[in-house]
Amino acid sequence: MKIRVIGCSGGELPGHNAPGFLLDDEIIFDAGSITSALSLKAQLRIKHIFITHAHLDHIRSIPFLADNIVFGKKERKIKIYSISPVVTAIRKHLFKSSLWPDFTLIPGPDDAILNLIKIRAGEPVMINGYTIIPYRVSHPVPAVGYLVEDAKGRIFFYTGDTGPTPSTWKKIGNRNVQCIIIDVSFPNSMREMAVNTGHLTPELLKEELSKMRHLPERICITHPKPQFFKTIKSELARLRMKNMQVLKDGDIIRV
Ligand SMILES: [Zn+2]
Ligand SMILES: [Zn+2]
Repeated sequence: MKIRVIGCSGGELPGHNAPGFLLDDEIIFDAGSITSALSLKAQLRIKHIFITHAHLDHIRSIPFLADNIVFGKKERKIKIYSISPVVTAIRKHLFKSSLWPDFTLIPGPDDAILNLIKIRAGEPVMINGYTIIPYRVSHPVPAVGYLVEDAKGRIFFYTGDTGPTPSTWKKIGNRNVQCIIIDVSFPNSMREMAVNTGHLTPELLKEELSKMRHLPERICITHPKPQFFKTIKSELARLRMKNMQVLKDGDIIRV
C-alpha cells in the first residue's frame, strides 16, 4: 500500500497542512488540505473520502473540492463516508446552512456531486480491493479511526484525532497492524489539555502503544500542533523507538 501524506498538522500555518492521507489515487482519509495541497488533476482522481470526524481541519476541503469538480469537463461523483453523527454534522453545518452551495443536491438530487454515505463502526467497506473498517476513538465529538487491509493482508490503522482509548485497542488487538498513523498533538507538559481535548502527548502515546497486543512495525506520528513541534519531536526521540517517525507533508508511507 502506498499512502501519500497530503497534510499531517494539528494546526494551520504556511507549510503545515491539515490532515489528509491519500491511498493510491482514489481514496483519501480526511479532507483537511485536498484543495490546497493537490493539483487539480490529482483532486479530480479522488472518488472516495473517509472522514474521521467533523472537526473543521478534517473536512474543510470538501466544499472547495466540489466547487472544483462542478467546472470539470467530465461528470464526476464523490462518495464521502463516515459514521452517522459525522455525516449528519457535515450535511447540516457545511451544506444545509448559508455557508456554501449544497453540493449534495447539485446538479440534481439524483446525480449530485457529493454523496454522503453512513457507515457503521466495526463494519467493513470494500473498495478497490481494500477492506476499510471504522473503529470508534476517543475525542470530544463522535470520531473514528480507519483500519485498512489490502488483498495481501497488509494492514494500517489511521487513528484520526484521538485521546487515550483502551476500547479501540481491545477491538483491533488481535489484528497484526503493520503501520499505525497516530495523533500526538501536544507536548508532555500539556497532558491534561491533551486528555480534555481528545489528543495524545508522547508519554500518552507510549501508554497507548503498551495496550496494543502487537506493536506495529512502523509508528507514524501525525497532528502535532506546529507551535509545539520541536518539543514534541524531542520528547518522542526520548522514547527511543527505532520504528517511529514524525510525518511531514509530502511523505510517502509504504505498508
Ligand atoms: Zn478533532
Ligand atoms: Zn484535528
